[in-house]
Amino acid sequence: MASLRNAIMTKDRPRRHGDMKRTPAKDVLPCSPSTRAPCCRSSGDVRTRVRGRFDRVDEDLLGAVVVDYKTSEITKQKEADRRVAASLQLKMYALAWREMTGRLPQRVELRFIETNVVGRHEPTEADVEQALAAVEAAADGIRARRFEATPSRNACRYCAYSQICPFTATRE
Ligand code: SF4
Repeated sequence: MASLRNAIMTKDRPRRHGDMKRTPAKDVLPCSPSTRAPCCRSSGDVRTRVRGRFDRVDEDLLGAVVVDYKTSEITKQKEADRRVAASLQLKMYALAWREMTGRLPQRVELRFIETNVVGRHEPTEADVEQALAAVEAAADGIRARRFEATPSRNACRYCAYSQICPFTATRE
């Protein structure tokens, strides 16, 4: 974990995303265009890069709002807020945004387009720590060639492969 934290919390980190292309930090691997999310680990010769794409980012004077669109039919506000607070994907986006700009987003959102319900969450340092731990664990597992399925009701419930996966925890 320390190596990842050191890599990401470099002093040379650009303060604004626009600066990323001009003066990339030594250990942070910038991705362009602007909606891509960089995240990396550097440990000796080993370097990990996570790449993804934000669906949407809105910025105002209070900071950024990172938005992800979902098609699931969530109708209750409480459930939407719970989903966004628990979302590893959005924790990763918050981490990536912090690496790109030096600040956490003011908010992350899941917008459920079928029902017009919007789940909202203010990301915290604890969220970012969870994202860092997940990157570290995944990278270590891949390098050690550990690919066993680790089903859980929570993970399998939202997994795109749950209908065909022989290990899914969602089957009756
Ligand atoms: S359904 Fe299969 S692939 Fe998806 S999370 Fe569960 S065990 Fe993993």
